[in-house]
Amino acid sequence: MNAKTKLEKVEDALERELCDHCLGRLFAQLGHGITNKERGKSLRIAYAMLGTEEERKKVPEETANCSLCNDLFDEIQKFSDIVLEDLQRFEFEDFLVGSRIDPEIEEKEEKIWTELNLTSAEPIKTEVNREVGRRVEEEIDKEANLEDPDIKAILDTRFDSVEIELSPLFIYGRYKKFSRDIPQTTWICTRCRGKGCEKCGGTGKMYETSVEEIIGKPLVEMTSGEDFTLHGMGREDIDAKMVGNGRPFVMEIKNPEKRFLELDKWKERANRDERVEIDSLKMVEREKVQEIKQAGSDKSYRAKISLGREGVDRAKFKKVLEELSEREISQETPERVNHRRADKIRKRRVKDLKLDSMDGKKAALTLRCEAGTYVKEFIHGDGGRTQPNLAEKLDTICEVEELDVIEIHYPNGSE
Ligand SMILES: [Zn+2]
Ligand SMILES: [Zn+2]
Repeated sequence: MNAKTKLEKVEDALERELCDHCLGRLFAQLGHGITNKERGKSLRIAYAMLGTEEERKKVPEETANCSLCNDLFDEIQKFSDIVLEDLQRFEFEDFLVGSRIDPEIEEKEEKIWTELNLTSAEPIKTEVNREVGRRVEEEIDKEANLEDPDIKAILDTRFDSVEIELSPLFIYGRYKKFSRDIPQTTWICTRCRGKGCEKCGGTGKMYETSVEEIIGKPLVEMTSGEDFTLHGMGREDIDAKMVGNGRPFVMEIKNPEKRFLELDKWKERANRDERVEIDSLKMVEREKVQEIKQAGSDKSYRAKISLGREGVDRAKFKKVLEELSEREISQETPERVNHRRADKIRKRRVKDLKLDSMDGKKAALTLRCEAGTYVKEFIHGDGGRTQPNLAEKLDTICEVEELDVIEIHYPNGSE
């Protein structure tokens, strides 16, 4: 057995020509609220006080040439200057310093841990990160954030270089769409997958633009960002308007160099395009994306439909709507949605069915549905795949001519 006592381990470490930082780091569990440098220095003194006279003579002073780190810690000020210079090109509230250390040093360090059988030593990388981070904090009066920083500066101590990682920005809002010709998000050409071909006229896209592009482009410019993604609370069909109080969304901007935004300016710029309108903007955390994706809010629609040749009596129409209100409906997956998905039955509730107007074979109605209801299919019946459905109950054909979303029942309080 060669279980060493703590004192023997310290003695062994003292013989290895280490700087105070590296010595202190090996015994990181000893002492609280002191730096590794202070700990290393204290260990030398403590050992000298406790040892025999003979041993005390052997106690080495801090060496000018650390056999482990090659005096890396003399360069901390230089490192923090380099990090600062790079950080100052960006806007951020908090930051994190990370580092890449010469792998040879890290190997040497691990070898010492094994030889001395140390289990709670601190890795050199951790000390470098902390020491550089502390100086940067003092210099710019911003806090290091280990959890979720706006910006990460990864220092490479071998090459005196810094790599910057910017956290994405997330901005919540609601959008309205007044056009029946644009999709919610960029729709890549299915033939060329974005390269550009005859089918898409070289654009790489199926549609000239989208809500995502109209509102995302000004924002990516304002933030000097790299790319944008719109996360919507569900989506409307391309030919459907989205009106009323608008659809909740979160816009994500990747690699934003600027993050102190005047959201009113974004709103003003996005709303110059008459096809969309955004409102209720505010900065949010990443978690908001999941939250709106899972919200499952009811939606209200206005549908314009045309009836079969025989038409429908107004009184009968109203009676049928009353019957269907609050009823649970069963829907098989429509053909248009996904051919590959195995047929599953969806159970949803349709509420507040109202006939707004009727003129011969044209009718307009409003209805409120649970999230995920196939509304068109509820109206025309989808060849009986939705049960019950409006067409069957009216005993005539119901063609959906227009279907607009008029309200998303996501309370303002949850914004
Ligand atoms: Zn050292
Ligand atoms: Zn194409």
